[in-house]
Amino acid sequence: MKGNCVFCKIVAGDIPTKKILENKHFIVIKDVNPKVVGHLLIIPKKHVATFLDLSSSLYENLLKTTNKVVKMILEETGSKGYNLLVNNGSVAGQVVHHLHLHVLPRKEGDRFRCGVD
Ligand code: AMP
Repeated sequence: MKGNCVFCKIVAGDIPTKKILENKHFIVIKDVNPKVVGHLLIIPKKHVATFLDLSSSLYENLLKTTNKVVKMILEETGSKGYNLLVNNGSVAGQVVHHLHLHVLPRKEGDRFRCGVD
């Protein structure tokens, strides 16, 4: 647990949140302010700030977890595509400084713009 970190509090159960999925190293929750229908966050239980702070075993685990979560949410939303997004550092738009991967299932005309085009 790091200081006042909101995601550490969610991991610890201090902020009650419905977990969509949980395994040894990660939790998956709905984003409280979804940019698209089905917007999920994959959050490591261990507090790390950005992608570069993940251990190599956690990288591997994150990819496996992401694969599973994407299949699940595509099935649930009927989306045919998705974005995976990680903001690293304030200058890149990171607001919560506990690493999290956004999973954004996409639909035609949903108007989400991730800024890479
Ligand atoms: P960012 O740090 O910019 O990658 O985004 C942080 C994301 O966390 C935003 O999309 C917020 O809506 C989301 N968020 C912040 N607090 C909570 C919370 N308590 N539960 C779920 N999502 C949250």
